[in-house]
Amino acid sequence: MQNKINDIFIVGAGMVGLCVAHQLKSKYPKNKIVLLEKEKDIGMHSSGRNSGVIHAGIYYEPDSIKAKVCINGGKRLKKFCRDEDIEINECGKVIVAQDPKLDSQLDFLFERGKKNGANIEIISQKKFRNLVPFGDGSAKRALWSPATSVINPKQVIDKLKAKLISMGVEIIFNSQIEAVNLITNVITFRVNHESRKANFSFLFNCAGLYADKVAKLFGIAENLLIFPFKGIYWNLNPDSDFVFNTNLYPVPDLNVPFLGVHVTPSYDGNVSLGPTAIPSLGRENYKGYEKIETVNSFKFFFTLAKQFVKNENGFRKYSLEQALHGIKPLFYKSAKKLIPDLKINDLIPSNKIGIRPQLYDIKKESLIKDFVIKNTSNSTHILNAISPAFTASFEFADLIINQSSIID
Ligand SMILES: Cc1cc2nc3c(=O)[nH]c(=O)nc-3n(C[C@H](O)[C@H](O)[C@H](O)COP(=O)(O)OP(=O)(O)OC[C@H]3O[C@@H](n4cnc5c(N)ncnc54)[C@H](O)[C@@H]3O)c2cc1C
Repeated sequence: MQNKINDIFIVGAGMVGLCVAHQLKSKYPKNKIVLLEKEKDIGMHSSGRNSGVIHAGIYYEPDSIKAKVCINGGKRLKKFCRDEDIEINECGKVIVAQDPKLDSQLDFLFERGKKNGANIEIISQKKFRNLVPFGDGSAKRALWSPATSVINPKQVIDKLKAKLISMGVEIIFNSQIEAVNLITNVITFRVNHESRKANFSFLFNCAGLYADKVAKLFGIAENLLIFPFKGIYWNLNPDSDFVFNTNLYPVPDLNVPFLGVHVTPSYDGNVSLGPTAIPSLGRENYKGYEKIETVNSFKFFFTLAKQFVKNENGFRKYSLEQALHGIKPLFYKSAKKLIPDLKINDLIPSNKIGIRPQLYDIKKESLIKDFVIKNTSNSTHILNAISPAFTASFEFADLIINQSSIID
């Protein structure tokens, strides 16, 4: 390994940036590693706002990066949680066909999951009803994943942050990368209102919702754009009759990178339903009117309109359903497919909202399903760090480092 590793900068202290820092510092303890985080603390975006599900590697195309890193990543995340005394709810997960027409998809998912090495089985109606007494009684069978678990993602990143600081990694909060001089290898970043410059020998871009913008500072990813999709959750009213001791997921539409509205016995004591996948007016537009990005939104909605006209893979019906999920009665209609006896008053608002940094390929006119890694001679850019990036991050970080040109 050469001197490139001297001053390593990592942009973004979400789960991916923290794990890249952790794996680098564990391998090369003497080297200086600096994390730049634009917020005042960690966890303000996806890594602090997700479902907390440790996925078991079922859905992903067998040659994909997701398939390569999810299962081992999940095992390593569980080990980290055990070592750091973070509670793991080893509650498993049931996938059920929410419509009898989708029943054969269970076989497809079973085959795919097995190819990926996932520990899964097709279970009978009786076992399904034992696991989920309130699930659809007409479903003849279901897919069972005992390894799927639930943790509190904020606890994980808080422990990771403390560990990194004790290992000597520097985290500069309120600091946002603004420019790069590729000839002198100098980055300009703003800390509060002050502009600073620093030499970097290597930089990892783990900027989540802004990863495409940071990549463009390095002259790459010209054809790639992040389109933000908002995930809104509802909670099950604690006064309702339903008790959930496991995750309940629908068979997903594998043409799109979303898993569908699901039921999760959440780490905060609630049973959560969601998330939706609604086009968002901005990358950080959590509360309606804040941080609206007019230009990006225009491109986004223009693209959606084009796809709507093309109507490939039933896009029209799917996108309408998703967009309307923001309206309670329509979300309720979807949730009822999973829990037929659900009443509308069983759903109460949740304050949890996350936004997915979904990557779109402008040339191919399609949403990208897999993680994307782009390398230059002195930088590596992680794009499309959507689910299951939280689950996979320790394993994903090793793959990112090994594929980067930091190691010659
Ligand atoms: C609703 C929802 C539910 C999900 N559920 C699950 C799940 O159950 N299981 C699972 O495995 N995954 C899940 N995911 C996916 C998972 O949360 C993400 O894949 C993961 O958190 C991505 O981590 P990250 O570090 O890439 O991004 P982030 O957590 O977004 O971190 C990126 C950081 O970069 C910072 N940043 C951005 N731009 C700059 C800049 N210019 N300069 C400095 N800093 C910058 C941001 O402030 C942010 O803190 C879910 C995601 C969503 C949105």
